[in-house]
Amino acid sequence: MTKSNDDFKVETWNSKPTKGAAGKTGLWRTFRPIIDDEACTRCEICALYCPEPCITLDPDDLSHEKGKMVIEYEYCKGCGICANECPKHCIEMVKETEFTEEEK
Ligand code: SF4
Ligand code: SF4
Repeated sequence: MTKSNDDFKVETWNSKPTKGAAGKTGLWRTFRPIIDDEACTRCEICALYCPEPCITLDPDDLSHEKGKMVIEYEYCKGCGICANECPKHCIEMVKETEFTEEEK
């Protein structure tokens, strides 16, 4: 029987980010990863590589048939690994200073 990509789905939500001795890792961030939802294929490779791990797929989001990739910014330290590993190059690292106080 021929296998499809769906047969090899990686489960990435076995662990959750938690507050460490130095506080929430999002406090360290100088760059914020922004996902282009239009270009994102929901392959979950970013979630697989995130060291925190603070990227998950929300399967209940109706904006796409597979759901939506969600970044938990309280724990994202802005390392940029997700942007580096994304095969579609659809994660942009944006300087925190470019966001308004309301957006932070
Ligand atoms: S690696 Fe890129 S294309 Fe794949 S789910 Fe993450 S943001 Fe989307
Ligand atoms: S920048 Fe680093 S910590 Fe933040 S979501 Fe991407 S891989 Fe995870």
